[in-house]
Amino acid sequence: MHRYLSSESDKKSHMKGTIFDIKRYAINDGPGIRTTIFFKGCPMSCLWCHNPESINSKPQKIYEKDRCIGCLECIDVCPEKAISLTGQGMNTDKNCVRCGKCAQICPSEAIQIAGRRVDIEDIIQIIEKDILFYDESKGGVTFSGGEPLMQADFLCELLDACEYLDIHRAVDTSGYADLPVFKKIIKKTDLLLFDLKMINDEKHRKFTGVSNESIIKNLKFAAEKQIDTIIRIPVIPGINTDDENIEKTGCIVSSIPNVLSICLLPYHDSAKGKYRRFAMKYGLPKVVTPNNFQMESIAGKLRSFNLKVNIGG
Ligand code: SF4
Ligand code: SF4
Repeated sequence: MHRYLSSESDKKSHMKGTIFDIKRYAINDGPGIRTTIFFKGCPMSCLWCHNPESINSKPQKIYEKDRCIGCLECIDVCPEKAISLTGQGMNTDKNCVRCGKCAQICPSEAIQIAGRRVDIEDIIQIIEKDILFYDESKGGVTFSGGEPLMQADFLCELLDACEYLDIHRAVDTSGYADLPVFKKIIKKTDLLLFDLKMINDEKHRKFTGVSNESIIKNLKFAAEKQIDTIIRIPVIPGINTDDENIEKTGCIVSSIPNVLSICLLPYHDSAKGKYRRFAMKYGLPKVVTPNNFQMESIAGKLRSFNLKVNIGG
């Protein structure tokens, strides 16, 4: 019997949220062994996003014609009669309610549903399976995305449940949120994994679709509240690797005493295939992965600000 689910706690809730993945035994999303919950929905549109399936806040249906073997089982199983056979393969119309029945029955995985609605108890059941691992490795649970702060009420409930179970809580965020929402979340967070993409606001708008004003404000607010923070920087050649950006990043981050370290994450384009599946255009077709020399050079410049810098997760 699960500790939280079997408890007399009146904290149990039937609130629902939308996630697109759960990763158990994660070792790059905070200290120790962790379970990472990936929330669906993101207000930003970074050109290098590795999880295009995370951007839309609703479950999405994907169809890959090349995989389809034409068995027509999806047509038979659909309760809404929303699928039909066309010259382009299986077509889904507006009556689709994203129930996922066609994806479940499809023998070749030509249909998949990215994202699912879950309630607090669905997640807690999974989290509770690995409590022993968290305890032994000083790990815990990380809430990531997408942008988890977009589902702030759902996130709050999960953070409360983890507190009840005495599980370490990390939140991996872009920091792009209204201050009241950010305040509410960090009160319940043991460790912030805070993405800092670039300091120049004009460039930030150009490459992510939003201003970084609230991001920098929120980072400073977390500092005032002395929340342990790890800064995560995606290193994208030609986008945020210029000396001016590195210099300004070093200045801002070194002025924040609660920053434990910076993680430099080398850009890679392994998500390109996902963009094809979601019929989305990949924004950085010509950018290549930074080499070790480039990564070490940036790390060295940031270390000159007396910061602890790691390359990778
Ligand atoms: S169930 Fe899958 S393989 Fe069969 S027709 Fe539908 S999409 Fe194609
Ligand atoms: S997700 Fe459900 S409603 Fe939509 S096409 Fe598939 S079976 Fe039909």
